[in-house]
Amino acid sequence: MSKFGLGAWECRFCGKSQIATENNYHIRYNFFSIGETELGPIGMTLSAIRCLNRECNKASISCELNKSVFSDSRGQHVPTGTPIESWRLRPASFATQQPGFIPEPLRNDYYEACLIRDLSPKASATLSRRCLQGMIRDFCKISKARLIDEIKELRKLVDEDAGPKGVETETVDAIDHVRGVGNIGAHMEKDINNIVEVDPGEAQALIELIEMLFAEWYVAREKRRERLRKIETIALDKATQIADLRSQGQGVALSKEPESK
Ligand SMILES: [Zn+2]
Repeated sequence: MSKFGLGAWECRFCGKSQIATENNYHIRYNFFSIGETELGPIGMTLSAIRCLNRECNKASISCELNKSVFSDSRGQHVPTGTPIESWRLRPASFATQQPGFIPEPLRNDYYEACLIRDLSPKASATLSRRCLQGMIRDFCKISKARLIDEIKELRKLVDEDAGPKGVETETVDAIDHVRGVGNIGAHMEKDINNIVEVDPGEAQALIELIEMLFAEWYVAREKRRERLRKIETIALDKATQIADLRSQGQGVALSKEPESK
């Protein structure tokens, strides 16, 4: 369901978690007075929410098509039952923004997989599968004809404690786990041109796997590099300071170690 509600909420534009209150949240039901359709009386619920992150401040908008029923107590039509259809209008996709240090083709496959998940789960799963393969090739440096063989090779390396840096056993377990969901396993064994039927739930499981791998592989590696860069800068600064002091003849006061010539 794509309708927004009061309470905990995460902005899809900037990724900030926050609480939606009466001040930044709007919902309205609009009954269509067009007579009874094949679905009965219908109407549409429109909801919008404004991001409280000042730098973002974007409006997210979604709507739902509902069956309608007249409420005597409220004297008007109200939506009833589960929505017939729902649309995420803005942003169009539920994808989370991925950082620029993740290779662009991988990010694009992921964004597209998210965009078409409901419209065409099998096309979405095909893109996710290509994205997963791209990640194993780029991050793990494993390249074989079929994705399934690449996963098996990754499993073997990790089990032998020879896995690529930053790849944990739990992550490979998660890949294997998702492989066991519905038709996804068959999808990974087939050639890329072989389209396998999957349902939106299965397509979603693949998308979540990709989001997890982006975080555990690329984001974690970048954080590690960032920390190392900081340490390097600090060490370099210290070395410069020491050298400066020594050139000023204060080196002895700084260090108890004898000067080596
Ligand atoms: Zn935002």
